[in-house]
Amino acid sequence: MATQMEFVPNQHATEAVTAHVIWMTTGLGCDGDSVAMTSATSPSLEDIITGAIPGMPRVVVHTPVLAFENGAEFMQAWYDAEAGKLDPFVLIVEGSIPNEHLSGEGHWAGMGVNPDNGQPITTNEWVDRLAPKAAAVVAIGTCATYGGIPAMANNPTGAMGMCDYLGWDWKSSAGLPIINIPGCPAQPDNMTETLMYLVFALAGMAPPPELDEAHRPTWLFGRTVREGCNRAGFAEQGQFATEYGDDPRCLVKLGCKGPVVKCNVPVRGWQSGYGGCPNVGGICMACTMPGFPDKYMPFMDEDKWGAAASNFEKFVSGPLIRYFRHKNIDNKYDKEPEWRHNRPELTTGYAKRW
Ligand code: SF4
Ligand code: SF4
Repeated sequence: MATQMEFVPNQHATEAVTAHVIWMTTGLGCDGDSVAMTSATSPSLEDIITGAIPGMPRVVVHTPVLAFENGAEFMQAWYDAEAGKLDPFVLIVEGSIPNEHLSGEGHWAGMGVNPDNGQPITTNEWVDRLAPKAAAVVAIGTCATYGGIPAMANNPTGAMGMCDYLGWDWKSSAGLPIINIPGCPAQPDNMTETLMYLVFALAGMAPPPELDEAHRPTWLFGRTVREGCNRAGFAEQGQFATEYGDDPRCLVKLGCKGPVVKCNVPVRGWQSGYGGCPNVGGICMACTMPGFPDKYMPFMDEDKWGAAASNFEKFVSGPLIRYFRHKNIDNKYDKEPEWRHNRPELTTGYAKRW
């Protein structure tokens, strides 16, 4: 677990705190996480920014996806954060960080224009300017957390996640490590819930979020997909789909990587509890994992170890479990106790006292 001993919550927790969120979408990515976040319900972004959550400090979110302002007016929050005028603020980064050492005289990603030379300010420079001032840094989506699709083998940009860029031991001004919310996109409620928790923590009203070794919140990423999947019982019984459209069965033989992937989507669903990749018939492609996508390709092929495990379940343990389980169900548990009848005698075993 990442150490958080130096966490320094707001020293004036009883005073009104306004937390700002600078949400950068200018890493190498697709804005999919921002779009997904608009469908969060537990809590919703509206709950957070309208102050609907009791006791929660006021939150102002600055993101190009939702902003009315544009141009220099929009960029002002970035400069204010850099100047220390937005305190505390949380820096959220979406999209992977390119290696600008490799971009020659050009650049891979940027936002806003440097008034001194008329050149774009690179995403990397914004991270360098803002991260040291941020009370917390959150990487959202697998691109920003671990590099994701832009960081695949043979990419030209040298793309990487925030922990690769700033360092896995990096700490914010409040003493927090980088918080990773992976997923492609990240599950909407995972984003808003973590943001809500973080704001409470920064205000001194909650402990710092507990993270695992890959900097993921433990309460969100502690289980594998298999452990939350509503098809897991079929795997235990050795029942596997062999083509799409089969009866609901475990999808491992169609390429699902759920047994070795940490993700809560099967438990939480995608929106309002609905959906959830394997729950609704789609294989898990491991989009939350640091090794995604390269280590899980080809996506639609059965993994070698998955095949070994599923063959054992299909031909050895599954038939035994099915046989004894259904024998028990048919002969015992699917039948009412015999003392429930309409005859005149009481046969429940109760010792009559009258
Ligand atoms: Fe888009 Fe997925 Fe990258 Fe997010 S993690 S920016 S959804 S490609
Ligand atoms: Fe990604 Fe798999 Fe989770 Fe679906 S279940 S969101 S594919 S890790």
